[in-house]
Amino acid sequence: MILVNLHPAKRARQRVRARRAGLSLEQRVVARKGAADRARARRVANPETVRAAERERYYTTDRRQRNIESTWRHVLRGYGLTVVGYLALVDAERNRCACCGTSEPGRGSAHWCVDHDHATGEIRGLLCHTCNVGIGMLGDTAEAVARAHVYLTRRRSLTP
Ligand SMILES: [Zn+2]
Repeated sequence: MILVNLHPAKRARQRVRARRAGLSLEQRVVARKGAADRARARRVANPETVRAAERERYYTTDRRQRNIESTWRHVLRGYGLTVVGYLALVDAERNRCACCGTSEPGRGSAHWCVDHDHATGEIRGLLCHTCNVGIGMLGDTAEAVARAHVYLTRRRSLTP
């Protein structure tokens, strides 16, 4: 099986997607082979159905919103998530930050940050913007955040 020329992060994402589908990475590569051809065949076989769905999407959302949604779908795909998969996560986390529990994603965004392990690509949870940036800035590890916790609870005041 040819699995060359994959960036390590991309390969990690592929592995997560394969595991979710209950397949090995090699099995998934085989299973996905021809997916683009099948989509093309669907369009050729049912041009009216496909075009009607596109028309519906085009005329019911404005251009700016379409761009935002398309970018967001692209970001989600990077985590191996579809919009449906993301919404299932939101449901599972009761539409709250998995760290601080706020119901506001923050930074004026309608979406939660998809927190993931950068080494394995595995999704850890949905976070608000503040928690996501905070954890990331501290080094993205439980040890680093624990050090900050120890510092804040044990630190004596140096103010004379
Ligand atoms: Zn939070």
